[in-house]
Amino acid sequence: MRLAHITRIAAVAAAVVLAATACGDQSSSLGGSSGAAPSVAQGASFPAGSTMEALNKAQTIRVGTKYDQPLFGLKGLDGNPAGFDVEISKIIAAKLGIPADKITFTEAPSAVREEVIEQNRVDMVVATYTINDKRKERISFAGPYYVAGQDLMVKSDNTTITGPDSLRAANAKVCSVSGSTPSENIKKYIDPANLTLFDVYSKCADALRTGQVDVVTTDNVILTGLIEQSNGAFKLVNHKFTEEPYGIGIKKGDVAFCEFIDQTLKEAEADGSYKAAWDSTVGKVTPEVPPLPAAGACS
Ligand code: GLU
Repeated sequence: MRLAHITRIAAVAAAVVLAATACGDQSSSLGGSSGAAPSVAQGASFPAGSTMEALNKAQTIRVGTKYDQPLFGLKGLDGNPAGFDVEISKIIAAKLGIPADKITFTEAPSAVREEVIEQNRVDMVVATYTINDKRKERISFAGPYYVAGQDLMVKSDNTTITGPDSLRAANAKVCSVSGSTPSENIKKYIDPANLTLFDVYSKCADALRTGQVDVVTTDNVILTGLIEQSNGAFKLVNHKFTEEPYGIGIKKGDVAFCEFIDQTLKEAEADGSYKAAWDSTVGKVTPEVPPLPAAGACS
């Protein structure tokens, strides 16, 4: 504990941030691909009664994320998730005065994301979570912090699937995840009997590997992570056919927390921590740092 505390103080000085990472501070305990921990706000004060004040006082935050999505949220052998969503969570926690090692991560598969927020089992969900109106009926979103797009993944030797319009003619068996936007979007391109839904994408990747399905569909960046891990077995069709703006899910109507997160993201872009989060995760495969998208209205 004491060592971690000293390391955190050291991390406040930009000059030693890299050194702290090299020595393996709390960022390495969050998994191999995590970057330098963002500077933790010291002595920050927040409006009385706000979520920010409560979290700062509690000195911990509960975050729902994915555990099987390389580059965004992948649980490491040390038990902690690593990836861009994890880094975004750390940036927000740091602004709340909460160090990375005080974040409690919980797995939040696609279908349970609204539920875990509604049931107050997490304070926020950062989990490749597309902002849309249907979800906004139950929760609120800060962000977006990234915009992905739905695509298809096939075996590397597949030449018949060229985009969603080729799926019907090929009578392709398609896999996606329950409660995800891609599982809904794909329905207009295929016979429902050809759609298999699991709870997590790694199961779809397994089904593709064993030939039980011909195609996995979800956001291009999630597929990129699975392809990265496939040893050349899978490829991206590279025909993006939707826009998936990733937001941070929070309790419905918490406008002040939403505005705080949006402001934090803006500052993270300005001070380089957004870029560092990207570079240490998705950037290892897709080096170009995306611009931070304009924030949506908080409601
Ligand atoms: N971004 C899409 C969604 O929120 C797909 C990725 C996922 O299931 O997490 O549904």
